[in-house]
Amino acid sequence: MGAIDLEEKETMKWLNKGHEFDRYAEKLVENFYQKGKKIYLFGAGIIGGEIARVIEKTGCFAGFIDNSREKQGFGVNGTEVLPLEKYLENGSRGIIVITVDTKTIPAIESQLTKAGLIKEKDFYLHREFMEQIFPVLSVYVNHQMYVELAQICLTERCTLKCKKCAHACYAVDAKGEDMSLDMAKKSADAFFSYVDIVKEFVLIGGEPFLYRELGEMITYIGKKYRHQIVMFAITTNGTILPKQIILDLCKEYQVTIHVSNYSAAIPSLEKKYEQLKDTLEKNHVPYTFNDQELSWLDYEFEAGSRKRTEEELTQVFDRCHTPCREIRGSRYYYCVMARSVSDNLNMGVGQEDYLELEGMGQEDQKILLEFHHGFSEKGYLEMCNHCNGKDAEKNPIPAAEQAK
Ligand code: SF4
Ligand code: SF4
Repeated sequence: MGAIDLEEKETMKWLNKGHEFDRYAEKLVENFYQKGKKIYLFGAGIIGGEIARVIEKTGCFAGFIDNSREKQGFGVNGTEVLPLEKYLENGSRGIIVITVDTKTIPAIESQLTKAGLIKEKDFYLHREFMEQIFPVLSVYVNHQMYVELAQICLTERCTLKCKKCAHACYAVDAKGEDMSLDMAKKSADAFFSYVDIVKEFVLIGGEPFLYRELGEMITYIGKKYRHQIVMFAITTNGTILPKQIILDLCKEYQVTIHVSNYSAAIPSLEKKYEQLKDTLEKNHVPYTFNDQELSWLDYEFEAGSRKRTEEELTQVFDRCHTPCREIRGSRYYYCVMARSVSDNLNMGVGQEDYLELEGMGQEDQKILLEFHHGFSEKGYLEMCNHCNGKDAEKNPIPAAEQAK
């Protein structure tokens, strides 16, 4: 997620700020207009449903195509589902996005190709479309900024002490100061002034259920910005049962609770997870609960400067593609790990590595689009000099091991 692959670019350093995507956008926009600014989703299942909820907000969603006769007969959530033949008969076609699981993609690609449709002109795969095409079309055609994922880190305090916490929360005093409610509200205001649609907006920590004003924050975002968010979520380590007022607000504003599963490292959590799932179900709060996390990536932020040259830093950043953007006050950070580790370990590295949203105008939307997808004045972050980046994948470590 994140970086748009501009083949001719060697660096993400801003050379033509506000116009970096102009050439890339030109052909996409022309094609999109030729297709009547319409997007059809091939696959009316879970993936299609999620993407439809994003695209509906732009007014470009034209409907589903699906091979299932049942779906063709009954439609999905009140939307008509076309067989491919009917779509092809229809003179004014749009762009098709294949919204099926990875296993089924080759069969649908082959069906579309046999019907004479061309990849990356008539149809796209959903992942590349949502990460690389839709954000650009959204800004260049609709003047709407679309973001896949963004977060507010409400507190860096946590109930666990994971040795390799990627935010270095193990170093944060249990009595330390959280983000103030004013600052948290300002963060939401700044973000939603410039971002029209976010697929997933997450309140994170540390452990966000420790945040005393969590209820106020859910209500604030729920009332003012819920319509701009497809999935509003909180990520928890599952050690705290939320209070009834929080559960009620999560139900009211449809906040999904993502529960991390660290029971492989901490077996005693299993009982807590059962209690939490039971409570969420009884209160009709949506949640996700993954399989046990067994391994993590070790970025080794604490291992000191790697003394990389500028060229090496550019390469580390270009290969990384972290999806984790953070809004903090009016500062938009490309990498939440870089910001939080530097703060929590008092490293003072990369103090200028953010985009200041205050004072930006709507005409600066393309600058935000570029920053979100990796452009910056330097083309990397100072913290990339203290990080394994993509190479962290080579040395997985056990997940959630606790410090003594
Ligand atoms: S990884 Fe998560 S649960 Fe573990 S210390 Fe960090 S924030 Fe807390
Ligand atoms: S600090 Fe590490 S994780 Fe963050 S952008 Fe740089 S290489 Fe990626």
